Amino acid sequence: MSGPVTEQDVEPTRGGAAQAAAAAGGVEIIESRVAQVGGLPVARALPRRARRTVGAWCFLDHAGPVDAAMHVGPHPHMGLHTVTWLLDGEVLHRDSLGNEQNIVPGQLNLMTAGHGIAHAEESLGGGRMHAVQLWVAQPEATRHGPGAFAHHADLPRVELDGWRATVIVGELHGARSPTRADTPLLGVELDTPRAAAATLPLRSEFEHAVVVLHGALRVDDTDVPPGVLAYLAPGRSEMAVQSGDACTALLLGGAPFEEQFLMFWNYVARTREEVTQAHRDWQAQSDRFGTVRSPLPRIPSPAPPWASSG
Ligand code: MN
Repeated sequence: MSGPVTEQDVEPTRGGAAQAAAAAGGVEIIESRVAQVGGLPVARALPRRARRTVGAWCFLDHAGPVDAAMHVGPHPHMGLHTVTWLLDGEVLHRDSLGNEQNIVPGQLNLMTAGHGIAHAEESLGGGRMHAVQLWVAQPEATRHGPGAFAHHADLPRVELDGWRATVIVGELHGARSPTRADTPLLGVELDTPRAAAATLPLRSEFEHAVVVLHGALRVDDTDVPPGVLAYLAPGRSEMAVQSGDACTALLLGGAPFEEQFLMFWNYVARTREEVTQAHRDWQAQSDRFGTVRSPLPRIPSPAPPWASSG
């Protein structure tokens, strides 16, 4: 999937009672926004005006479940990792490094953009689509580096009082993912087929968030339905999660990402000039982003609003 980030996503206004609740050790509920990606409606939980990042997690689109196919043609990225995570369906990834990798539920495709990469993603076999696309902002130390791609078919799992936790990135309850992380980060799928209640250990220097993908749960005493992001500020050593029925959710966390950055379309940058240059390089079919062998049409880069011409 692709994430055409627009100005609707990123206006950095902050404040409000919910944020005060999080600051006091409670749970802050932030509504997702409906966006359109590749012809499908998605619930965009990050970035939102009230919260742009959780750790270095800077983008979260939840698509489906829907009976539809996804076809996202070749498009560029820079300065971020893309995390593709499926609950249903099958997706083929092709990138400009020559990787071709299909992915099924429970597996991870992790692409590192660095200075520049391009990829395409499409559903296989039509049918059902239920997926999450996340981005992780790269820090200054790695964001100018080369692109990379990794497929992880077997991620560590841990059982916690009826919840099955799949550790996508980072470490939970002694289970550590082999996945690359450029900053201290946590990503876990929490899944239960029936009512379950558990207390999860958290790293107190991390901030965290929970997003429900199927069913509903409670975090501490706060109901968390689908379509919202439940945010927990740093300073917590545990979190209670309780579900009355089958539920699948994502737990994200990380050290607060202190570097100021700029997101436009599929780019994470530091300055407008960097975005303008990326836009020009993609439109010029520069070697910077390479070529994706895909039958799908290349997606043109929108001109940044501050650029004088496309
Ligand atoms: Mn993409």
